[in-house]
Amino acid sequence: MPQSDNNKRRQFFRSLGGQGPIRRPPWTADDFTDRCVRCRACVDACPEGVLFIGGGGYPELRFTDGGCTLCRACVDVCEAPVFDTGRPAFPWRARIEANCLALANVHCQSCQDACEWRAIRFVPQLGHAPTPRLDTAACTGCGACQAQCPNHAITMTSDTMTSEERAHVD
Ligand code: SF4
Ligand code: SF4
Ligand code: SF4
Repeated sequence: MPQSDNNKRRQFFRSLGGQGPIRRPPWTADDFTDRCVRCRACVDACPEGVLFIGGGGYPELRFTDGGCTLCRACVDVCEAPVFDTGRPAFPWRARIEANCLALANVHCQSCQDACEWRAIRFVPQLGHAPTPRLDTAACTGCGACQAQCPNHAITMTSDTMTSEERAHVD
């Protein structure tokens, strides 16, 4: 398929939009709403614009327009006992789903281009577009790939984490 057709298909799929579950800022835990005082300092400090005020006035992390760069600006401005940078940033990792365009023979590598952690690589296939492989050990769950995927084919889930990783988060 010509490259221009691939670009059009990617743009079309991205225009369809998508809504995910409620996610909290990095390095926070299940007790987030008990500890957060809803001052919104983290939302204002986030240079990536991935934090929003959600239900009840509590900050939510949304990967709709980009990922979290783990810059820690939110941590630095917060005066509540909310963040613990001793734990992994997120209790989820990326997973590439069956509706990935590359699996359907469309040349797309947007997720690899977005991943600064080099957790996604593409494997050449004979007579087929290269297909993605995700290294969950390298993935931070930052969401950058999800934000860039034109077909909403990337989810964030704890299912792909090893039992050791999961124990570390819990
Ligand atoms: S670590 Fe940085 S990019 Fe991530 S949510 Fe906090 S302020 Fe935003
Ligand atoms: S998972 Fe990667 S290769 Fe597949 S459609 Fe999304 S961005 Fe493209
Ligand atoms: S969520 Fe994982 S695979 Fe996706 S961009 Fe971030 S580190 Fe890379």
